[in-house]
Amino acid sequence: MTDQLSIYDRQSIEQLRRELRIDPHALRRFRNALLKHGASDASALAELPDDARRALADRVDLHALELHRRTDSQQDGASKLLFRTRAGMLIEAVILRIATGRTTLCVSSQVGCAAACEFCATGKMGVAQNLSPGEILDQIVRARQLLAAEGRTLRNLVFMGMGEPLHNEENLYAALQSLTAPDLFHQPPSRILVSTVGLPDAMIRLARRFPSVHLALSLHSANQPVREGLMPLARRYPLVDLRRALAQINRLQPAGIDVMIEYLMLAGVNDSLEAAAELVAWLAGLRVHVNLIPYNPIDDAPHLAGSDRDARESFGARLKAAGLKTTIRYSLGADVAAACGQLVRQENRAARHEFRRLVEAESLH
Ligand code: SAH
Repeated sequence: MTDQLSIYDRQSIEQLRRELRIDPHALRRFRNALLKHGASDASALAELPDDARRALADRVDLHALELHRRTDSQQDGASKLLFRTRAGMLIEAVILRIATGRTTLCVSSQVGCAAACEFCATGKMGVAQNLSPGEILDQIVRARQLLAAEGRTLRNLVFMGMGEPLHNEENLYAALQSLTAPDLFHQPPSRILVSTVGLPDAMIRLARRFPSVHLALSLHSANQPVREGLMPLARRYPLVDLRRALAQINRLQPAGIDVMIEYLMLAGVNDSLEAAAELVAWLAGLRVHVNLIPYNPIDDAPHLAGSDRDARESFGARLKAAGLKTTIRYSLGADVAAACGQLVRQENRAARHEFRRLVEAESLH
């Protein structure tokens, strides 16, 4: 129902609270239970007196998404959550249960993606549709509810799911505002990371508005022609502009925060020792932490293959020898295609087809 109030809209909720004469403390307990502690809808609502509970459940939209399917990895602690939006589109979020006990949620910001990177299944879906702040936030509420039922808490949020967060800037900022607000999610900004394909001006705006939110740049190559071959947007946002933006972001962010540099290791493309030297030179003087990430093969890019372990390790050693903070990452959730949007892609096609059929049927009347 679209005329329902959003749970994140403080003003309307406050108005409703006055109208229904709900005790402000009871309302706060309800909101904390749902947004901060991952209580089930029923137990969060139980914080409210009976009449208020019914009225609120009627008038307020607690969830923008429906959980369509959950797939748990048989190899590691990853779970892929497939959600359906009101418009019938499917998006995914991934729960990563790290061995140390820390739990991370990988959040989507769009359906599809306009960046069209060579190596990314979501990019192959084409044009993006922005998720609303409520659709972004409900991924977190739903995941927190599932995790609370397992006795786990959600620690880190990374915007590394489907979509380019900085192509959906206003909704991203609204979501970050709610996430960090003490009376809503109260998530420390230092436990949020936004990953981008590299839009220099938007990256600077993000660092100005949320200086303690971590930023990750999907660099993948410090060589302009190689980067253009992998990421079409590299033409519009060249390396020289990105380098300048990073220097400015280092000044805007607190001293303890490094910009993450994501570097996908692709055999014969960007994994030579010369490429490592180029990367070292490009990053000189910046406060960064390099993550070398293994490539998860996708059907749409048969010409690409991940670098083998030896290549990744010697590349990493070269960076470390130059004094760069470097982590060689290993992948989680590969068996459930949790790193790329393949499953969703086909299902969205079906959803769009179904939608078109309904529209056509409708227009006959
Ligand atoms: N649009 C944002 C966030 C989504 S992608 C961005 O580009 O950063 C999140 C990360 O996954 C990015 O670093 C992206 O380059 C990486 N990625 C995309 N496809 C991948 C694949 N097939 N294997 C491994 N990592 C991939």
